[in-house]
Amino acid sequence: MQLLFVKIEEIVGKAGIIIGDEVSSRPTNWLGLGNREAKAIIRPKTTQELSQVMQLCHAADQSVVPAGGLSGLVQGTDTVKDDVLISLERMREIEVVDEAGATMIVQAGTPLQLVQERAEQSAMSFAVDLGARGSASIGGLIATNAGGNSVIRYGMMREQVLGLEAVLADGTIISSMNSMLKNNAGYDLKQLFIGSEGTLGIVTRAVLRLRPQMISTNTVLVAVNDFENITKILKMFSSELGGTLNAFEVMWQNYYSLILGGNKQHKAPLPDEYAYYILIEACGGDQQIDAARFMQVLETALADELILDAVVASSEEQRNALWAIRDDIITLVMTMLPAAAFDVSLPIGCMEEYIDDVTSNMQDKWGDKAKLVVFGHLGDSNIHLAIGTGVENELDHGEVEQVVYQPLAAYNGSVSAEHGIGLEKRDWLSTSRSKTELDLMRSLKTMMDPKNILNPGKVLG
Ligand SMILES: Cc1cc2nc3c(=O)[nH]c(=O)nc-3n(C[C@H](O)[C@H](O)[C@H](O)COP(=O)(O)OP(=O)(O)OC[C@H]3O[C@@H](n4cnc5c(N)ncnc54)[C@H](O)[C@@H]3O)c2cc1C
Repeated sequence: MQLLFVKIEEIVGKAGIIIGDEVSSRPTNWLGLGNREAKAIIRPKTTQELSQVMQLCHAADQSVVPAGGLSGLVQGTDTVKDDVLISLERMREIEVVDEAGATMIVQAGTPLQLVQERAEQSAMSFAVDLGARGSASIGGLIATNAGGNSVIRYGMMREQVLGLEAVLADGTIISSMNSMLKNNAGYDLKQLFIGSEGTLGIVTRAVLRLRPQMISTNTVLVAVNDFENITKILKMFSSELGGTLNAFEVMWQNYYSLILGGNKQHKAPLPDEYAYYILIEACGGDQQIDAARFMQVLETALADELILDAVVASSEEQRNALWAIRDDIITLVMTMLPAAAFDVSLPIGCMEEYIDDVTSNMQDKWGDKAKLVVFGHLGDSNIHLAIGTGVENELDHGEVEQVVYQPLAAYNGSVSAEHGIGLEKRDWLSTSRSKTELDLMRSLKTMMDPKNILNPGKVLG
């Protein structure tokens, strides 16, 4: 065994290091697929162990790639054979729940779902939720500044983190475990690590902000034909529900019909003849009052013919069935393959025009065989696109990227709304960031990781 790994094993113990053939048997994604390529996988149990490991890696110029639940979607945890993967999988303890302060201290490897369940036991909730909740770790969610389904109300992961602890490239532990809502004592250092995808430090613990548990949930799926009406409906539900709007998810007809056609487990809640379907959800503190207000807004929108058809969930089962259509990424992927998926943001008012641009670019390149499917967190200015070119068994990712990203610039859009940059979008970062912004990012990276050992090649290259 290489001397570096002998020394690392002395720190983390036998259970803390995987080396040799066993490395390749470890997956590269959350579905448990792929063969990992790396010199070793290190699995520290404490911040102190990770700090010592990083001191050794720093001295040896050893590149490291941090990893949580491997559910990231932009190749942020990809490794090459000379890398070491640092997995936080053994740091998954919920250390403290402070009910009075509405905070929770957790280790970075803790899966999101455990945090949500623990918050519920204390009659509170954790505001980030997404389809990969069983795998995605708190450290990964912080590193990617994940969004999810309730951003419209609570903001992204950044808004849920009060403090954190991280290990820097040279092993220094930076503890910034603030637990207060207000703390303006100098620079807010935690922000350096939120959304920096493991390129500036490895997050080991965090102080999370909890929210009151919701007593009421009202959910409806509505159908609309004019895009213009979507923005009117959003405005109406936002303002008239007194700030209780939790989700505003839009599915284009092509997404809705593809999912219902591709997975017979879904029962069509509405006919698939409309142009857009919106899943609207509001959560509040009083079932009766909230339901009455929700129905009143819905009825007004129906009477004004903004909404053409609607189905209200009258049980948790019905609610889950509606969300299952929105969240059925597996059917999307399996039906579209080979396809490329995208996560972009742009002002809502420009979305229809932008989708027309992409459609026309696709038509020019691949003709009628190409397929576009659109859905997303529209209330957060965020849409996802899936594109199949119709060229049998083949997909030129670069060509598809050109079709999607090139028209974005005209709308001041972003090539990444919530998934991050990783390796996948690195070459397109300059489409959404100016030269001066990129220069400052590079200066920060050089200052914090002069040897470029932390997730090298990701985000900035
Ligand atoms: C079905 C599905 C649905 C999804 N839905 C959404 C969604 O709605 N919204 C959304 O934003 N994302 C979504 N995602 C993407 C993904 O869940 C998030 O990016 C999540 O934050 C990744 O967490 P992870 O623990 O799996 O991170 P990983 O995939 O392990 O890592 C992601 C990145 O973070 C870095 N990293 C991981 N842990 C640490 C750490 N402790 N310190 C420093 N860096 C670290 C890695 O190096 C990598 O760059 C979805 C993914 C799937 C598969």
